[in-house]
Amino acid sequence: MSEVRVRFAPSPTGYLHIGGVRTALYSWLWARQHGGKFILRIEDTDRARSTEESIQIVLESMRWLGLDWDEGPEVGGDHGPYVQSERLDIYAEYAETLIESGHAYRCYATKEEIATAREAHQKSGTKDGFHFRSPWRDRTDGPEDANARHVIRFRAPHEGTTSWVDEVKGQIDILNSTQQDFILLRPDGLPLYNFGCVVDDLTMGVTLVARGDDHMINTAPQILLYEALDAAVAAFAHMPMVLAPNGEKLSKRHAAVGVLEYRDLGYLPDAVLNYLARLGWSHGDQEIFTRQELIEKFGWDRVGTTAGRYDAKKFLHVQAEHLRMLSDEDIARWTVPFLAKIGIEVEADDAVLLKTIPYVRPRAETFVDVADAVAYFFRDVEFEAKGKRKFLVPDNAQALLRLADVVEAVEPFRQEPLDATVKAWLEENELPMKVVAQPARVAMTGRTRSPGLFEVMEVLGKEKTLARLRAGAKIAAADEPPA
Ligand code: GLU
Repeated sequence: MSEVRVRFAPSPTGYLHIGGVRTALYSWLWARQHGGKFILRIEDTDRARSTEESIQIVLESMRWLGLDWDEGPEVGGDHGPYVQSERLDIYAEYAETLIESGHAYRCYATKEEIATAREAHQKSGTKDGFHFRSPWRDRTDGPEDANARHVIRFRAPHEGTTSWVDEVKGQIDILNSTQQDFILLRPDGLPLYNFGCVVDDLTMGVTLVARGDDHMINTAPQILLYEALDAAVAAFAHMPMVLAPNGEKLSKRHAAVGVLEYRDLGYLPDAVLNYLARLGWSHGDQEIFTRQELIEKFGWDRVGTTAGRYDAKKFLHVQAEHLRMLSDEDIARWTVPFLAKIGIEVEADDAVLLKTIPYVRPRAETFVDVADAVAYFFRDVEFEAKGKRKFLVPDNAQALLRLADVVEAVEPFRQEPLDATVKAWLEENELPMKVVAQPARVAMTGRTRSPGLFEVMEVLGKEKTLARLRAGAKIAAADEPPA
């Protein structure tokens, strides 16, 4: 096989949609599996909708996901520029070539003429879609003013069939009679999508074009362009869309669709890639894949032909599994920015942070959860109203004070001796554990759920443990109404 060259060609008109990320991922996996090249190309010829800000969002999203590109913006390459609006002279040159070979022509039809033709078509009562038949297709004379405003149209064949064997969908045949003389270049020199796409894929040496099946309609016109240019046609892989749980096209109304939202929700890039990879591709029953496994196992033959439905619960589950695959050190490292967001500045190698990770890892699903679960070790207790109301009540004040006195004597201040000492004291006084457990938990953490009591004490250390138990006792004695 010649070198695999694949590309991702987003239009920068907003956030990077997770459906687009899946397209990018499959191409990236294919390139990495074959030691090929992954190209990033920005398709910004829709000048009204494209923004510099969204280009930056695309780049940031790709970087966060670790979908590194071998050629494209910022990294360059031999086939640049990689932003379509900077390639207008290349499109002009290719349009000229097509005019010279008789595959394209200048069309001077005005908007009014096209509108009149459309009206006549509608009045005729035909059910066929409107295809503008430009009079300039067959005219050999030029207009009076050679510089008059015009577009360049493709002279589409009407006979025959255009076919390709799609890597996902199999054999596809499209009758050429359905084609129209689509526009290649607008009066301002900007290419329309099909033309820009083919010129770029061709000049960038792309061997396989992978994209959503909403583009199936563009593939026959694109193949006709390759043929008109006498170029080898790329292979195509069209994958089904990502749908919402109710079967609609997945949009903001259904879920977080911008990939950076998942970063902010505390997801791992590897988890996002794993979930998206499985949404449309399978490898037996396996659900959890490392990045390396995806590279090794991905193949177009197991990309499904029906659309995958987004499932938030499953996504979160995949995320949690990936979080738990990390070492304590890595969890700490990923959690640090989320702690900073809630005002806690610690280093990833902070001893307290590292000590807390084993206790929170079984329950946490995202790094937001981890940050939240460890927050009380680093800042003053913030009481959950319900826990405070239920457990920091006058009846429990005495027990909290006595517990503080009992643990004050424990040395070293470690789980096992704390556990043994407190249990012995409870037994001696014929008190059940529950007399102190929940009040102490609320006093020390502000919450009714936390790691084990003695684990919390050990991580907090003696000084903070005593201070919090005694402060809790004070609140309980005063039985303040919750704030
Ligand atoms: N810019 C197009 C899109 O974002 C690219 C389609 C393609 O990959 O050919 O849909």
